[in-house]
Amino acid sequence: MILPTETAPATPTPLALDLIRKYSIPGPRYTSYPPATQFTAKLAPLGLEDAILRDNGRRGAAGDPTEGGPVSLYFHLPFCESRCWFCGCNTVITRRREAATEYLDDLEREVALTAELMDLLRPVTQVHFGGGTPTFLPPDELRRLGALINKYFRLTPDCEFSVEIDPRRLTREHVLALREIGANRASLGVQDTNPQVQLAIHRVQPQQMNEQAFAWLREAGFGSINVDLIYGLPLQTASSFAQTIDDVLALKPDRLSVFSYAHVPWIKPAQRIFEDRKQLPGPEDKLAMFAIAHEKLTGAGFVDIGLDHFARPDDALAVSQRAGTLHRNFQGYSTAADASLYGFGISSISSTPDTYRQNFKTMAEWRAALDAGKLPVERGLRLTPEDVCRRTIIMRLMCDRRLDFAALTRTLGVNFATTYAAELANLADLQTDGLIQLTKSALVVKPAGVPLLRVIAMRFDAHFVAAAKRHAATI
Ligand code: SF4
Repeated sequence: MILPTETAPATPTPLALDLIRKYSIPGPRYTSYPPATQFTAKLAPLGLEDAILRDNGRRGAAGDPTEGGPVSLYFHLPFCESRCWFCGCNTVITRRREAATEYLDDLEREVALTAELMDLLRPVTQVHFGGGTPTFLPPDELRRLGALINKYFRLTPDCEFSVEIDPRRLTREHVLALREIGANRASLGVQDTNPQVQLAIHRVQPQQMNEQAFAWLREAGFGSINVDLIYGLPLQTASSFAQTIDDVLALKPDRLSVFSYAHVPWIKPAQRIFEDRKQLPGPEDKLAMFAIAHEKLTGAGFVDIGLDHFARPDDALAVSQRAGTLHRNFQGYSTAADASLYGFGISSISSTPDTYRQNFKTMAEWRAALDAGKLPVERGLRLTPEDVCRRTIIMRLMCDRRLDFAALTRTLGVNFATTYAAELANLADLQTDGLIQLTKSALVVKPAGVPLLRVIAMRFDAHFVAAAKRHAATI
C-alpha cells in the first residue's frame, strides 16, 4: 500500500451504501449556482459587458484599496487527435496541427477584446488550461500562449497554474514548455488502467505512459499532480477498478478525482456504442466500484474532500479545506479564494460576483462573433440577490461540509435560521437517517452524508427540478 505520508496507516472510511441507494438522485454538480442549465440566451438584459466593468471595482480580499480583486483565467483548448467514446467534453477531433495555430490567433483576438474592459492590474491567482487536450498544441504554441497571458495579465508569484494532461499526447518538450510559462500543477486523464476497458472506450493508454508522464512532470518540478479516474465505464467491474486504483496509487499522485461516468447519449451520440454492445455496468456494480475506490483511497490516507475529490493530507486542497478557505468553481474544488473567473475559447465559462457567461460552443459561431468585434458570448445569467445568498450557502456546504448559522447571518446580512427556516425544516429525513446533524446554530454533514453532499445542497436550491435527463446521477 502506498501511503501519502510516512505516518501510520489510515483507517478506511466505510460508505453507508443503503443511504446512498436511498438518496442518490440526478442532480447538478454545483460548480456554479445557479447551475449552467439555468443560463439563458437572452443576453441584452444581462448587461454582461457592464458586469466586467462592475467587477473591476472589486477590492482584494485584504481590502487593499489600491488593488482589485483576484482573477482566475481559464483557456479552453479543444483539440483531440481521437475521440474517447465516453467523453462529455466540448472537443474538436483533428490531427491538423495548423488548427491550433489558427485557434491561438483567435484566442489572441478574444483576450484583446476582453482586456479592453478589464482592469489588467488585478492579480491573477489561478490559470487553468483545459480541453480537449492542451498538449495538442506543440511546445512552441504553448510558449506563444504563455507569452499572450504574460502580455496582458499580472500573475502573482504563487499563481496556481494547472494543465490537463493526456499522457498519450505528451512529450518531455511539452512539459518543459509548460514549466517555462509558469505551469506548476497537472491533472492527468487516466480513467482506467485495464486494457480491455481501454479498448472498449477507445483510449489505449498503457501504464508505462502514465509512469513516464509522472516522471517528466516531477523532474520538471510540478508540485501537485492529480489523476482523473472514471467508474461506470464499459466492462469495468469492482475488482478491475480496484486494480486501477492500485495502479494509480503506485504513481504517487497528490490528488485524485474519481468521477461517475455520465451516460448522456442524447447529448453525446458516441456513447451509444456502449448500449449497442451491452457493455455498461449496472447501478449496483457502479456503487461497488465507488465503494472500493473510497475504501482504498481513504485507507491509503487520502482525504475525501467531497464530490469525487481526494487529496493527500498535505496537499493544498486538504489544507485549504481544514482552514475553511476552500472554494468551488467551474474546474471543481479550488484554493483560489473568491476570484472572478475569465474564460477564453469555445464553450468556456466566466463568472463575476453577479453574472455568469458562456462562450459559443462551436468554432464557427465563436469566430463569427470575434470577426464582428464582439465578445463571443452565447448564454449567461444575472444572479438575483436571492441567487447570491443561496450560492453562498451551497458553496459553504460543498466546501466546509457545515453551515455555521451565525457566520452566514453575518455574510448574507439576513438572519439565516429564520430566512431559511423552510429549507432547514425540510432536512428532517436527512437528520433522522444520520446524514447530517442539525442544531440551533449549525448544520454539520456527518461522514455518511459526505458522498451525498449534492443531495443535501439540492435542498437549498430554489431552481432545482428533478428532471432525470438533465443531470447525471449523483453517484
Ligand atoms: S482526450 Fe480527453 S477531451 Fe479528448 S476525447 Fe479523450 S477524454 Fe475527451
